[in-house]
Amino acid sequence: MPQNVEPLENLVEQFAPFPGIGRKGATRMAYEVMAMPDAQAMELAKAIEHAKKDLHRCRICQDYTADEVCRICASPKRDRSTICVVESPRDIKAIERTHEYNGLYHVLHGLISPMDGVGAEQLCFKELLARLNDTVKEVIMATSPTVEGEATAMYLAKLIKPLGVRTTRLAYGLPVGSSLEYADETTLYRAMEGRGEL
Ligand code: ZN
Repeated sequence: MPQNVEPLENLVEQFAPFPGIGRKGATRMAYEVMAMPDAQAMELAKAIEHAKKDLHRCRICQDYTADEVCRICASPKRDRSTICVVESPRDIKAIERTHEYNGLYHVLHGLISPMDGVGAEQLCFKELLARLNDTVKEVIMATSPTVEGEATAMYLAKLIKPLGVRTTRLAYGLPVGSSLEYADETTLYRAMEGRGEL
């Protein structure tokens, strides 16, 4: 490759690891960036920089926030007796869209996956267990109905149940293997309403 296109190749390398993008998509994105007006491309770079610099995990639920504690954890209107456990911050957005859940959340930032070398110690389990005080009456396992999602829910339930906290699992009307974040609001609402004991 000639020296002068190396920065372009570098840009492709940066985009390629995004889920569902691949080398072809990454090449397209790199050329799109090159076709942008300079100011727009700089805005993109700045948006990434700011998001990474200003956001961090909420001290309580591990969702992303610019403050020490996120808006949901800080809200006096939320029901503190229920914690809904999700794989990623994206899932909180999906459940909030149903407007039916008023409890708190906990983000694990992943699922147990021996194939990918992800074990319990890499996920935010410790932080969840530390939150289980007398106020918490129910923990809802809202991980996706995939092999990893089920395994994670079962693993956590085994740790939580002996503490005397009710542990439930979403009743999915979703095909097994699908992801929570793609579920429509009605399906998610029904899954929440019909949740069962674990
Ligand atoms: Zn929070």
